[in-house]
Amino acid sequence: MTECTSIGNRLLAALPSADLELLTPHLRKVSFEPDAVLVWSVDELHQAYFPHSGAIAFMIDLPDGHTVATALMGWEGVLASLSVLGPAHSSVTAIARAAGTASPISAVNFRRAYAQSAAIRHVVQVHIGSLLLQLQHVAACNALHRVDRRMTRWLLQLHDRVPDDHLPLTQEGLAQLLGARRTTVTLMMRKLRAAGAIPSDRRGFVDIDRAGLERATCECYALMQQRIDSIYCQELSPSQPAFAPALESSISPPP
Ligand SMILES: [Zn+2]
Repeated sequence: MTECTSIGNRLLAALPSADLELLTPHLRKVSFEPDAVLVWSVDELHQAYFPHSGAIAFMIDLPDGHTVATALMGWEGVLASLSVLGPAHSSVTAIARAAGTASPISAVNFRRAYAQSAAIRHVVQVHIGSLLLQLQHVAACNALHRVDRRMTRWLLQLHDRVPDDHLPLTQEGLAQLLGARRTTVTLMMRKLRAAGAIPSDRRGFVDIDRAGLERATCECYALMQQRIDSIYCQELSPSQPAFAPALESSISPPP
């Protein structure tokens, strides 16, 4: 992902001071661990989250127990953004795929600030536009491309939100992202290791060779990121120093 800024949350960093001050009194900072659930499907959206780091997957849960990811979000977005429109329920489960930190805000306070500030409305609209673009590309990729290509796309998307080439991801987690069987993931990992795109796949971690993954993936990743980066770079420019409240609590995975 091309970075227009690397300051905290990309949306908060783009707000003028007066607009940011509508939010900051209500923002805390929490950490979240891999597999922590930030929002459950069908739950009412009581709070939104501005991630500062880490990666959060949007998962569709099917009645037969299958899951599949529809999008990944990190420091560039705001989780539960639709809560600004009024009381709403989540259509997805939002689960941390990589540990990070985020600033939650109650939906009531987020809505109030959204109503008061054209700049906040603008950054939320930019985020929703880019999220819709990601959803459309993922839908097209899922319909048209092989599972190994889709897997490399998810790995690249995750790598964009993790600070090194050592991705905290189990084969089970990868199978859930893909909506594929674990045995399928094992076969695909073997194929990508042979191609040099994944130097090693140790317990709970996937080491990647970015250039190798980019050679192995379909055209969806580059096209999608180019379009999303273009939206962000054209619409948002950083105007704030890092917003860094003290860490208050941690969200752990379900037992
Ligand atoms: Zn594709």
